[in-house]
Amino acid sequence: MSATYTVVNPATEQAVTDVAMASLAEADAAIERAAEAYPAWRDTAPGERARLLRRFAAVVDEHIPELAELEVRNSGHTWGNATWEAGNVRDVLNYYSAAPERLTGHQIPVAGGINVTFHEPLGVVGIIVPWNFPMPIAGWGFGPALAAGNTVVLKPAELTPLTAIRLAELALEAGIPEGVFTVVPGKGSVVGERFVTHPLVRKVCFTGSTDVGKKIMAGCADQVKRVTLELGGKSANIVFADADLAKAAAAAPSAVFDNAGQDCCARSRILVQRSAYDEFVSLLQPAVAGVKVIDPSDRSSEMGPLISAAQKAAVQGFVDEVEVAFAGVAPQGPGYWFAPTVVLADDPQQRIWREEVFGPVVAVMPFDDEAHAVELANDTEFGLSGSIYTRDVGRALRVSRGVEAGNLSVNSHSSVRYWTPFGGFKQSGLGRELGPDAPHSFTEVKNVFISND
Ligand code: NAD
Repeated sequence: MSATYTVVNPATEQAVTDVAMASLAEADAAIERAAEAYPAWRDTAPGERARLLRRFAAVVDEHIPELAELEVRNSGHTWGNATWEAGNVRDVLNYYSAAPERLTGHQIPVAGGINVTFHEPLGVVGIIVPWNFPMPIAGWGFGPALAAGNTVVLKPAELTPLTAIRLAELALEAGIPEGVFTVVPGKGSVVGERFVTHPLVRKVCFTGSTDVGKKIMAGCADQVKRVTLELGGKSANIVFADADLAKAAAAAPSAVFDNAGQDCCARSRILVQRSAYDEFVSLLQPAVAGVKVIDPSDRSSEMGPLISAAQKAAVQGFVDEVEVAFAGVAPQGPGYWFAPTVVLADDPQQRIWREEVFGPVVAVMPFDDEAHAVELANDTEFGLSGSIYTRDVGRALRVSRGVEAGNLSVNSHSSVRYWTPFGGFKQSGLGRELGPDAPHSFTEVKNVFISND
């Protein structure tokens, strides 16, 4: 008998359903089935693989309300976010459905024959997903991996397995052959670690905490296993005095409180030029008070609860160490609710300034000039995303080049578009997902010389 995990609705604390957790033997069996399915999937004609991925996208599209509803109940995501997330899986599948027919190599001039390169798939790819964005992060892995001709085993987070389980059913319904895309719910220490140690898994694509990511990387070294890591963040939102301050202050809450701050790209440090600091803070206060923290299934909800009691306690631990400047409002009663919270920080050594809170808490600090802003922004081991608000194009360029982070936006907080590359500098990750090159990270380059003789 497999152990089970009781999935809880974080907005109500009510049990949703029990999910069977795979044992080591079940994880091995899933990996072996994926390895058996691999040769036929690899050899499926590019046009046919493309057609199947487009069909998978179409079936996801038909089930967007169902997937969104499942995510609202399982993860406490707002209805608007969850609908976007299901649509993102569809879009990623459609985008990478164009890849099988375009996975071209080079023809390189040589004497005595021809030289060509091929992008060969790896085999079985293991994808390990965290609980904060169960659908998009799964799709960013399995979309390009399947397109490149790999088969996939995917482990959702213990807390949030429901949409991944449903996506695997929809893949079968769309005609993706058995064993090509398998979801294996289970513990990180059992199923996740098995992806690292099983020799038939040729690449691990991990998104989660930096601590676990380091262990995965060390484990993969043993077999020189390919690995992509998408880890934590402590991103800066840098507001210069010449910026449109009203626009910057109005946008700042959603840049950090979206998904209740449980976002690796959350701009959880706001750096404001000293001459504009007081005005910015006075504009930020009503913007924070206005964030609508209500039942996530309500169509107008802007922020739901945290994922679990443990996450709420961890976030509270950060807030207990500091003085809260002002906060929004959140429901009382059942559910892991936490009001959007603002802290005015003055010491870059404070834990609230240095560590990823992964909750709706933002720290604001003044800076003196451009060099000081870049220095403060870079004074972290993380480097995932960030924003720069200024009307000066030259400054926008200089600061964008100066900040050590993988995904920056100017006068905007956007960070993830499926057709542009996404990933972290420093300890925020290794490798890139999404964008036109993602299928390459699920292949090996093979060079072949064919003699004239
Ligand atoms: P986590 O590291 O605890 O877990 C992530 C996944 O790894 C889960 O599926 C878990 O079961 C599994 N796991 C745990 N221990 C494992 C082990 N020893 N071997 C293999 N797998 C194991 O992270 P979390 O708490 O679920 O997610 C939050 C973290 O994810 C945050 O730090 C956040 O910044 C990060 N994150 C990063 C990105 C990004 O793209 N950079 C995106 C989303 C989340």
